[in-house]
Amino acid sequence: MTKVNDIFGNEIEFECMGCEIAEHKLIPPGGYVYDDGFINISADPEIPIVGFMVLGIKKHVKSINELTRDERIHIMDVLNTTIEKMKKINICEEVLLIQEEKASHFHIWIVPMHEWMINFNKNVRNIKEIIDYSKENFDEKTKDDLLNAVELLKEEFKKSNK
Ligand SMILES: [Zn+2]
Repeated sequence: MTKVNDIFGNEIEFECMGCEIAEHKLIPPGGYVYDDGFINISADPEIPIVGFMVLGIKKHVKSINELTRDERIHIMDVLNTTIEKMKKINICEEVLLIQEEKASHFHIWIVPMHEWMINFNKNVRNIKEIIDYSKENFDEKTKDDLLNAVELLKEEFKKSNK
């Protein structure tokens, strides 16, 4: 079991966060933005950056190499739709995508590039500092903005019904 504090300061426990989010045993902040039974999009339970989304899958594999071609195409399609919607509702103009095979369960970080990140050159090399800054500066307003971004994205997905 891994125990961590979520963005609201509550302790959460899991064997595999990716599996438990996919199986709805661990509900992400604000709930699911999108879930088609294989792919889910939601806010990260631990990183309080407004509009920060995680693409997860219901298959416990590490690498994109372990997925079928149809699964890869499906992932890219949902990833594209998510990024389009994030831009449409003005969460950001650019995103940073991160996928680490060292994680036990495949997922893609979709990090919106916010103006405040200019202090870190909006650079992937500074992602640790960016995450630390978001945690240190998390307040009630950011919490509201984060949950609001989740709601707006949910609405966008409902509108397009995909
Ligand atoms: Zn898993």
